[in-house]
Amino acid sequence: MRNVDYLIVGGSAAGTTAAEVIRSRNGEGSITIVTDEEEEYSRVLLPFYSRNKIKREQVFLKTPDWYKQKNIELLKKTKATGLNCADHLITLSDGEEIQYGKLLISIGGRVIRLDAAGSQLENILYFRTLEDTDKVIKAASSAKAGVIVGGGLISLDFATCFKANNVGEVTILVKEPYFWANRLGPDSSKVMVSVLAKNGVKVLTGEEVERFEFEQGRTLFKGPTLNNKVATVVTKSGKRFECGVVGVGIGIKVDLEWIAKAGVKTNRGILTNEYLETNVKDVYAAGDCAEFADVIFGRQHMMGNWANATSQGQAAAKGMVGERTIYETASSYSDSFFEGTYSFIGVTDMAFADEVISRGSVESGKMTQIYIKTIGRWPRGASGPEGNTKRIVGATVINSAGEVAPLTAAVKGKVDVSFLVDKLADTNFDLNQLVN
Ligand SMILES: Cc1cc2nc3c(=O)[nH]c(=O)nc-3n(C[C@H](O)[C@H](O)[C@H](O)COP(=O)(O)OP(=O)(O)OC[C@H]3O[C@@H](n4cnc5c(N)ncnc54)[C@H](O)[C@@H]3O)c2cc1C
Repeated sequence: MRNVDYLIVGGSAAGTTAAEVIRSRNGEGSITIVTDEEEEYSRVLLPFYSRNKIKREQVFLKTPDWYKQKNIELLKKTKATGLNCADHLITLSDGEEIQYGKLLISIGGRVIRLDAAGSQLENILYFRTLEDTDKVIKAASSAKAGVIVGGGLISLDFATCFKANNVGEVTILVKEPYFWANRLGPDSSKVMVSVLAKNGVKVLTGEEVERFEFEQGRTLFKGPTLNNKVATVVTKSGKRFECGVVGVGIGIKVDLEWIAKAGVKTNRGILTNEYLETNVKDVYAAGDCAEFADVIFGRQHMMGNWANATSQGQAAAKGMVGERTIYETASSYSDSFFEGTYSFIGVTDMAFADEVISRGSVESGKMTQIYIKTIGRWPRGASGPEGNTKRIVGATVINSAGEVAPLTAAVKGKVDVSFLVDKLADTNFDLNQLVN
């Protein structure tokens, strides 16, 4: 049986960063990364590759030489399937067992598959892996029309990819009453939809897929695709959309079963404390899969962004080599779509905030929403100033990139905005005053 000091399951942002940090602090200990993928690449770069902005070879994270130089063993196309915490053992898909000293689980999330008749037809595609991206580019480059199912981050990546690959008609179908309803207010959503419309992407709300057809009236209920390509999306309201490619982005979930079975506490993700330690000794979690104790907001929190994953990889790695480190950050996630930009900062959850302030207007094409919480109602365990203060806990910023830095700094700095709340809605008020 193989025996390693540091075993890392999942070799992407969190896992690779952790391996690098462990090696920088411990030149001797053995490090093994187990990944079920064939290549190590940056997911963040996949949309750029899909839009022909960068070449395929530019998405890769590290060269084989890097692993050699750092003396980090990389087991590719190998899935961890079982965990025995008492004996410190991980079982792999080929039946081999590895004994670990410290274990980091950094397995990210898997796409949620759409369960509708015909959803196994060819060219109904997802956008999570490099393999997915290769398929999306291939299908999009020969499609006259494309349909995107689900509104949000991935729908924007599909839309920009489809347009960059000359798909003529592009339609996004969302079941919610408006686009990205689970993350944005209605006015922010309108601003985004108008950017999409300007770029030839239509958004239809209140629409759910009923079935996919490969020929008029013919679908597949189960079994292999038999090379049948999707030709039509039929919605529950009876609308029909002819198309050569379908992009599905309806969320991700963490593959928790094998971990929970081993006695590691889970909820939506793998539960950890502020040190990214699970309830089981020597087992850590980091990145998209971790539901960690967030000391800024005083609650368990999951994030889905690259900066968070790498920072958590660093913090967990330090803990694994004996330098226990509290993970504390206010994450922000920014991206562009066509000529638009959007950012999510901190916690943008109405159930957590007490007040949401809107800044900007649909007409100006710029909308920011600022989430405020009164400290008197702050949950136990949260860090911050004592007394009756108001803090910005999060913000969504559409097409006002200059507002991202001061808002992020205000969230991170736990700034008391009690005396400024009335000014925040005024676009003439310079948000830099919050932190200067
Ligand atoms: C198309 C796209 C665009 C994005 N754009 C941005 C962006 O612009 N900015 C941003 O901040 N974030 C972006 N993200 C999100 C970002 O990529 C993720 O937050 C980040 O990759 C999370 O890193 P991670 O290491 O936690 O997990 P992941 O990157 O999901 O990696 C987990 C790895 O573990 C492997 N694995 C899972 N289970 C097992 C197992 N049992 N055994 C072995 N291996 C396993 C997986 O196959 C995967 O390789 C984007 C994501 C996508 C899909």
